[in-house]
Amino acid sequence: MSDRAFPQPLGGNQMPRFGGPATFMRLPPVDVATHGPLDVAIVGVPLDIGTSNRSGARFGPREIRAESCLLRPYNMATRAAPFDSLVVGDVGDVALNTFNLPASLDIVTAHHAGLVAAGSVPLTLGGDHTITYPIVRALAAVHGPLGMVHVDAHADVNVAMFGERITHGSWLRHAIDDGFVDPRRTVQIGLRGTGYTAEDFDWMRDQGGRVVQAEACWHRSLAPLMDEVREQLGDGPCYLSFDVDGLDPSVAPGTGTPEIGGLTGAQGLEIIRGCRGLRLVGADVVEVAPAYDASGNTALVAANLAFEILCVVPGVVTR
Ligand code: MN
Ligand code: MN
Repeated sequence: MSDRAFPQPLGGNQMPRFGGPATFMRLPPVDVATHGPLDVAIVGVPLDIGTSNRSGARFGPREIRAESCLLRPYNMATRAAPFDSLVVGDVGDVALNTFNLPASLDIVTAHHAGLVAAGSVPLTLGGDHTITYPIVRALAAVHGPLGMVHVDAHADVNVAMFGERITHGSWLRHAIDDGFVDPRRTVQIGLRGTGYTAEDFDWMRDQGGRVVQAEACWHRSLAPLMDEVREQLGDGPCYLSFDVDGLDPSVAPGTGTPEIGGLTGAQGLEIIRGCRGLRLVGADVVEVAPAYDASGNTALVAANLAFEILCVVPGVVTR
């Protein structure tokens, strides 16, 4: 925790919620080059050239920030007070090469390596799920292999897609094969839908990881599951990757590959709140595609998920 002044979100009684800076929660804008250390760096990765169906997640970070204008600084359920606890800043977006996916992944790794070297926990707004591979590559270089809480409708463990190794449907397999993620400290939650083979969800189990398919989550609280997840992931460094399509399309329709029968919004909150106590060294919320989000609700949900993640970063106090 830093002894610097804690930046605060601009309040709804200081400036109407639809005005003010277009940062996450209307935090003061941060120039990462001149600003001092941040405990948490909120960063956008507006990439969608790794997606296999509907594109449009490149507009996710901007829309999540826009909808985050409604959020207030205290968590009324958990009493978490992230902005009393941590120096949080929105450092803007990564300047990708939108014409070149492998080059963009290297840009993301370099960008996040800089944030980690400065002592920040990166909380990343996507962007399609491809971005998690270069992020965990940067984090694992410092922390070693990471535990992984992966919320998703999809396993994301394809070998390749049209010959491309790192995509939004293959990032996790390669993050494990390349040693950035420890499969025995990995849980996948919310998987469902149709597969290319009946064994698609077994790859992670064969690596020693845990797979909790959506049907095992239906009609129940996920708080007991998260007790087991904390036990499984232990004291080591962990990453939380939240693909909004893990939630049901009735909750989060604005995404590229929706699948019916997904998690409820409340279950999404239970998963994130259940990560309190893990040594989170980074997290992301990905796959918000505003073009399919007529009400803006998917981006609003994603903004809330990002705030809830902020509330479980190590060092956050409760009031
Ligand atoms: Mn995914
Ligand atoms: Mn997905």
